[in-house]
Order: sequence, then structure tokens, then C-alpha cells
Amino acid sequence: MPELPEVEITARLLDGALRGARIEYARAPGINALKTYDPPLSALEGQLVVAVRRRGKQLILDSDGQSGGLALLMHLMSAGRLQLYDRPASVRDRSSRLLVGFDGARELRLREFGSKQAAWVKLLRAQQLEHEDSLATLGPEAWPDAVAPAQLKALLDVPRPLHTLLRDQRVIAGIGRSWVDEILWRAKLSPYKRGADLDAQEARRLRAAVIDILGGAIAHYEQTIALPIPDKLPMPLRVHRHQGEPCPRCSQELQAVHFEDYVIAYCPACQTDGRVLKDRRLSRLLR
Ligand SMILES: [Zn+2]
Repeated sequence: MPELPEVEITARLLDGALRGARIEYARAPGINALKTYDPPLSALEGQLVVAVRRRGKQLILDSDGQSGGLALLMHLMSAGRLQLYDRPASVRDRSSRLLVGFDGARELRLREFGSKQAAWVKLLRAQQLEHEDSLATLGPEAWPDAVAPAQLKALLDVPRPLHTLLRDQRVIAGIGRSWVDEILWRAKLSPYKRGADLDAQEARRLRAAVIDILGGAIAHYEQTIALPIPDKLPMPLRVHRHQGEPCPRCSQELQAVHFEDYVIAYCPACQTDGRVLKDRRLSRLLR
């Protein structure tokens, strides 16, 4: 589940390895990963990598060369990885949805695990990037500075549950299903508390939790992840997927609510005044 911390560490590692590298080829073996056709992927050939960076949960590889500045925009969705290898993939490797080869035989591969083919790639001219919908509609970045407490309170001032609001990329960019549980647990807020019901103190607590949790995860990855980025990232989660285990703060049992195809984990004692949420009730609230 690549969210802001996973995409951030990917961008940092790839930026360190690829800045200044010359692109030799670019191919999209699975045609539906590439959502654009002009310029063609072959326009990347001969270009030099200017930077690899993150915006929300998306990755951008900026390059420059004879065909002008280009931007390769990538969304890994829920099961994609962008990995750099020392040699090209074997012809039998069918998991790669995008291959970019560099001088020195290195190859960047977008691979997708699981049955869904959801990850996507767009190749844009540099000047098109700021008008690109998937970036133009994003809310402010959740990290590094997040937004001021009053601004966060204003962003969340709608009658929708925090769990839904914080994952809405148009409200705030970078948080998904895994880290939202950690953030709400840290802030001692119920997943279904409505954004409009937050008081100023809760908004400050929530903002601090967003920055601490996401920043802490990135710091953890800085210590533990190196290239090639592993297929399975060791996410330092303490609450999400830990239902049935003791709360790391109060030792009471963590509970879970199943909603659509995912699970919300929380501590009743720390977050919901001891109440155990019913699946059906929460599902209705989260719509
Ligand atoms: Zn607790």
C-alpha cells in the first residue's frame, strides 16, 4: 500500500541514484498502464533525468533533452512498486508495467502485485504538468509541514467522518488506508468523528499526529530501506492490521471494523470512549 511515506522514500532513493542518468529506452509492456500517447514513450530516449520527486502519492520523473522537458507521472495505486535493478528484466518477466533503461544497463521497473491492474503512467510535456488533473485537484501536502492548525480545521470543516476526509486526496494529499489508522490513534480521535465537530485543540492534536506519524515512517524507511526497494515494504504500523492485539498506549484490545474491502483498526479506550463500533453502523457513516 504505497502512501506518502512509501512514495517519499522511493522518490528519495531513485532521485539519489538516477539524477543525471541518461535514458536509453522506455517501454510499457502492459498497454493499459500508459494513459497518454503524445508525446510517445520513445521521446524519453536520450533525455537526462533532472529529478525524481513525489506529489501526494504520485511519483514524477522529470527529464530534459532534445525533445524539451518531459515529466513521467506515475501512480502506484495500491499494489505497485517502482524498483531500480542493475540489469534489464528477463523477457519472461510479465509483472512489469513500465520499463525505463538507463546508461550502465540499469533498469527502472514499475511492477504490480496482485490481480488488479490499477497503477498508471502518463508522459507529459513539462509545461502540461501543472494542468494535469491528478495533480491540480490535490489538496495541500500532509507532510512535511502539513497545514497550519486553523487551515486544517477549515479543510476538515464538513460533516464527513475523519477517516474518510483524511484519505480524500482533494482535501489533503498523501494519506491512505494504513496511515490514517495510525494518525487517528495517535491523535486519540474516533475514525467516525465528523470533521466539522473538531474543536481547535483536537485540530492541533490531529495536525501534530499527521506530521509525527508520516515523518516517523519516513525516518524509519531511511534507516531500513535501500535500493533495490523490496517487493514488500516493512511498514512500521502499530495499530493498522493489529486488531486483537493490545493497544501500544493503554494495553486494551485493539478492535477492527470491516468496511468495503478494507479494515479500520482503532482502540476503543483511546478513541471512542470505550465504545466498540458496529460494522453496519460505521459503514453507513462512512459513505
Ligand atoms: Zn488504547
